Order: sequence, then C-alpha cells, then structure tokens
Amino acid sequence: MPSTKFQIERLLPCACLALADAPFAACPECGGDGATYQEIILAIEYGYWRGCRGARDLYGAPLEPDDPEECEIQSVTDERGVEVELTERETERAEEKCIRDALESRIDALYDRYED
Ligand SMILES: [Zn+2]
Repeated sequence: MPSTKFQIERLLPCACLALADAPFAACPECGGDGATYQEIILAIEYGYWRGCRGARDLYGAPLEPDDPEECEIQSVTDERGVEVELTERETERAEEKCIRDALESRIDALYDRYED
C-alpha cells in the first residue's frame, strides 16, 4: 500500500510544563498558557483509485461521466507509530496530499519506463 508523509499542527502541552507543574508566566513559547502549536509529521497509508474515463461516442462526446480519481486513507500514525485521529479539515488536506503523491509516483514510474 502506498504511503506518504503529512504535516499537521496541533495545540500541545508546552515544553515548559515538563520543568514545573505550572507553565511559566514568562515562557516565550506559550506565553504562560501552557500550550503551543507544534508541527507533527504523520505517516499516512492510503488506497488509491486512479479513476477512468467514461465511454465516448465516435465523435468523442461523453456517453457517461468520467470516474474521478479517489483515495482512501487507511491509517494515520505519528512518529512513534501511534494512531492519530484527523479532523475533517485535516482529512481533506491529507486526501489531497495522497492524490498528489500518487500522481507523482505514476509520473516517476513513467519516466523510469522511458529511460531504459
Ligand atoms: Zn511554555
């Protein structure tokens, strides 16, 4: 199954909380509220359907609609291998990333074939 890296930002406990029970009021990272946006790199495994062109008549006019390409996210894990739940918006972005990724691999595969 193909996989790709995907980056999200999440509000996470600030590093200053590891040093004391309460966040530092003057912490430059979180400004005292104890949480900061941090980038997380996720690994996404996905299924990909490249779609297909609907039937055309003799003159090239469509007889049926094209079947668009699609991807289905199978698993999302962080760097420690822990499953991560994506928000609706993150899922949309992740699916776009997977489709781009799949397209790039197809283009790479085409180049490989013509290089020989
Ligand atoms: Zn802090």
